[in-house]
Amino acid sequence: MPLGSFPSESGSLSSLAQPMEKISVAVRFRPPAAVDPSPDRIWKVDDNRISLHRPLGTPISGVNFAFDYVFDPSYSNAMVYDLLIKSIIQAAIDGFNGTAFAYGQTSSGKTFTMNGSEEDPGIITLGVKDVFRRIEMTTDREFLIRVSYMEIYNEEINDLLSFGNQKLPVHESLERGIYVSGLREEIVNCSEQVIELLKLGEANRHFGETNMNARSSRSHTIFRMVIESSARDSMKCGDVSNADAIRVSVLNLVDLAGSERVAKTGAGGARLREGKHINKSLMILGNVINKLSESGKQRGHIPYRDSKLTRILQPALGGNSKTSIICTVAPEEVHVEESRGTLQFASRAKRITNCAQVNEILTDAALLKRQKQEIEELREKLQGSHSEVLEQVILKQRNDMHKSELERERLAMELEKERTKRAALELCIKDQQKKLEDLGSLSTSDYASVSTQKKGFATMFDDTSVSKGEVLRTPNFKPVGDDFVAKRSSSFMELDSSPSLEAFGNTDDEDLWMQLNKGCITDLDMLQVTPDMKCRPLPSFRMPHEPALDEDATTKICHALATECDFNKQQLEALREKCTIMESECTLLKDKKSSLLEALSLSKQENKLIKAENEELVSKLNEEKQKFKELKEDIQRFGMTFVGKTELQVALLTKLKAMSEKIKTLKVPCDV
Ligand code: ADP
Ligand code: MG
Repeated sequence: MPLGSFPSESGSLSSLAQPMEKISVAVRFRPPAAVDPSPDRIWKVDDNRISLHRPLGTPISGVNFAFDYVFDPSYSNAMVYDLLIKSIIQAAIDGFNGTAFAYGQTSSGKTFTMNGSEEDPGIITLGVKDVFRRIEMTTDREFLIRVSYMEIYNEEINDLLSFGNQKLPVHESLERGIYVSGLREEIVNCSEQVIELLKLGEANRHFGETNMNARSSRSHTIFRMVIESSARDSMKCGDVSNADAIRVSVLNLVDLAGSERVAKTGAGGARLREGKHINKSLMILGNVINKLSESGKQRGHIPYRDSKLTRILQPALGGNSKTSIICTVAPEEVHVEESRGTLQFASRAKRITNCAQVNEILTDAALLKRQKQEIEELREKLQGSHSEVLEQVILKQRNDMHKSELERERLAMELEKERTKRAALELCIKDQQKKLEDLGSLSTSDYASVSTQKKGFATMFDDTSVSKGEVLRTPNFKPVGDDFVAKRSSSFMELDSSPSLEAFGNTDDEDLWMQLNKGCITDLDMLQVTPDMKCRPLPSFRMPHEPALDEDATTKICHALATECDFNKQQLEALREKCTIMESECTLLKDKKSSLLEALSLSKQENKLIKAENEELVSKLNEEKQKFKELKEDIQRFGMTFVGKTELQVALLTKLKAMSEKIKTLKVPCDV
C-alpha cells in the first residue's frame, strides 16, 4: 500500500458491497468556563435534542436540532469513545476505512476530545490502544500497522514525524487514490511506540496564543493509521476465496483548528494570517458538507479540490469510509452565534451518506474465485425470489455501477493527460526532424557556406549580446521561434542568455544541444512523470574546445539529434500503446456499465413481477378472508337458530310433561 493514501476505490482492490450509511454526528458541550449570572439565552439538552431557550423556559423557535448523540459536560472522553468511535476502530480492523474528526469554534474542546489529558485520554490515545488490543484478540489474522502524522498549516502540508518534510503535495493516482506524497510512515507494533510518535508530532505542531485559548492549535492535524491484514494460515482458511486477500484500511483521526472571529480572538499579524487560512479551509469544508447534504439532483460539483483538508478527507465525506463527527460547543451565551453555526454544520453533516466497503487486495485467481462465489450466492438468492433480496441485488449493482463510473472518469482523465503529452511530443519530434534535415544539408551541400559562417558560430559563443537565431542564419538553418513549447526546468532556464565558450567545457551534451536550439527543448520533466518511461541520457558528446565548428562536430550534433529523435519516437510509440490500452480499458468499463445497467433493469422487471404476484396473492387472501368471515357469520346464525330451536323443544317437552301429569290426575276419579 502506498504512503499516506486511502485505499483506492478502484484498481486492484476488490470490495464486498455494503449498503449506504449515514455519517454519525454527535455534539459535545464542554463545561462552562465561568458561571454566567444572568444569561439571556441558554442551551437545553433533552435526550439527543438541543434547543435554545429564554431563561424563563420559553424555547426560541427555529433553534432545535437532533443528533445521534448529545454529550453534556458529564461525559468523559472514554464515554464518548465507547459510544461513537469504538465501532469505527473495529470496522478499521475488519478492513473498512474510518474517520473521526472534531469540529467547532476555538476553545470549544476539539483538542481536548481528540488528544485529551493525562487523567482523561482522548480519542486518539484510546483508539490506538484499542487497535492493538483488538489485534491481539484477532488470532486468525496477521497485521501490519503503519502510522503517519501530518498538519495542514497555512494551507501547506507538513510532516509532523519528520521535521524536514514540509510543504508536501497531494496527489491522486489510479492505484493509490488520493495521497500525500513524501509523508513519513512508521511501522509500529505496540501502542506505546505510537504514543511516543504522537508526542514527537505534537512538539512539532503549530500553536499560537489568542485571547480565547492560551495554547490554541493553529493547524489541522491528521493522525493516520494504515492497517493491513491477511489470514494467518491461508491453507486452513475455510473460505478459499479469502485465502489470498489482503485487507487494507486507513483510519484518520483529525483535530481541526477552530473557526474564529478576529474581533474575539484579537489576532493580528501572523495569527491573523493563520486565522484567515483556518477560516477559509473550514468554509470550504462547510461548502463540501452543504453540497453533500443536498439531494442527488441539486448537488452538482463538490468542491473537494478547493482546500487540502477537503481533498485529503474526500473519501471520508460521501465516499468509502465510516465517518463520525464530534461537533464541540462552548455553552456560554457569548458564543451562542458560533454554537448555532456549529449545530447547523452538524445537522447538515447528518444528512451525508457514505458507502463504506471492505478493502481487499486480491490476486487474480482469488478475485475470480470471489466473483464466482458472489454470482453463486446471488443466483441462490434470486431463486428464493424475495423482493428484499432483489432490493439488495439492485443496491449492490448500483454500488458497482458507481464504482465503475468513478473508474471510467479517472481513466478518461488519464487518457486526456496522455493525449496532451503525445501532442507535445509529436510537435517536438517534427521540429527536431526539421532541424536534423537542416543540419544534414548543412554538413554536405552547404558545407562551404558553413565555413563562412564559422566565424558566426564563434561569435555566438563569445558574444552574449547576439541572439542564437541571428547567428545561426544559414541558408538551411532557419531561426527557431521563441514561442516553441519547451521549458525543461529552472536549471535550464538559466541558460537562456548565451554563456561564454569556456562554460561549454563543463556542460554536458544535452545542455549544449539545448543552447544550440534556443528554447526548442523537450519538456523532459513532463516525460518523466509518465510511468514506465525513464528519460535516457543523450549519448556522450562534448563540444570541441576550438571556437570553430568543424564537420566532425556537425556530424556529431546530427548524430545526437538523430539518437534523440529515435528515442522520442520510441516514447511516442509507447505513449500511443498506453493510449490504446487505456482506450480499450475505457471501452471495457463502458461495456461493464451497460451490462450492469441491463442487469439492473432485469432485476427491476423481476421485482415488478414479484410485486404483482404479491399483490395478486394479497387480493386472493383478502377474498378468502371475506369468505371465511361470511362462513363464520353463517355458523353464528345457524348456532343462534339451533339454540332457539333447542329452547323451543325444551319448552314443548316441559309442556308435554305438564299435560301428561294433568292427564294422570284426570284418570284417578274415573277409577274410583
Ligand atoms: P479547541 O481545541 O476547540 O480550541 P480545547 O480542546 O483546547 O479547544 O479546549 C479549550 C479548553 O477547554 C481547554 O482548557 C480544555 O482543557 C477545556 N475543555 C474542553 N473540553 C472540555 C471537557 N469536555 N471537559 C473539561 N475541560 C474541557
Ligand atoms: Mg485545538
